[in-house]
Amino acid sequence: MKHLPHKTIERLSQYRRALLICLEKGQTHIYSHEIATIQHITAVQVRRDLMLIGYTGTLRKGYNVKELIELIGEIIDSSEGINVAIIGMGNLGRALINYFAGKRSHLKIVASFDINPDKIGNTMSGVPCYGTDEMSKVIAEKDIKVGIMTVPAEFASQTADLLVKAGIRGILNYTPKPVNVPKYVYLEEYDMITSLEKVAFYVKLQELE
Ligand code: ATP
Repeated sequence: MKHLPHKTIERLSQYRRALLICLEKGQTHIYSHEIATIQHITAVQVRRDLMLIGYTGTLRKGYNVKELIELIGEIIDSSEGINVAIIGMGNLGRALINYFAGKRSHLKIVASFDINPDKIGNTMSGVPCYGTDEMSKVIAEKDIKVGIMTVPAEFASQTADLLVKAGIRGILNYTPKPVNVPKYVYLEEYDMITSLEKVAFYVKLQELE
């Protein structure tokens, strides 16, 4: 499992979301080319990813939707679930808490942190907000493994350092500022501005054609 490419892990999560919708509609089997169409990729890519996790469908019926959802879950979810914290309860942090509330049982936002005294002590969608001075204590007590950073860019590195010191194992950095973390902490950086500028660039190119 350690050797699964990062992109495969990303796609497995996307396949599962698509498969859950199929299951809801009562579909029991699905072909690789159907998954490929939903995800805008090739059927060869889908088959390659699923072969990497040791799953093969039948030629006649394709993949069993329920079995595949369960197998992907066994591979990407941790059996006892993962507790998550949000650092920075501004507009983005609050939006993420509300978005995730009750959505994914194996990924649970259990705490948030801020420096603003007006926010500390509040609860949003059942998630309490603590001061950053309590980070180490709360992260240990609540067994929080992942931190989502939604602080202003200028506080990105100090927040990452605090999280590492507090024993966090993975960070999703939503700020536009890249951070450094030790090798044993998995870091994913998602800069919305870059993504939006990229989309806008391709729109501009189309308009120039
Ligand atoms: P709001 O108007 O509610 O503050 P915002 O989205 O404009 O929202 P930002 O200035 O982007 O807020 O800051 C995001 C959040 O990060 C705020 O709640 C702010 O108090 C908090 N914050 C700022 N610095 C830190 C820090 N060093 N550690 C933790 N939280 C911080």
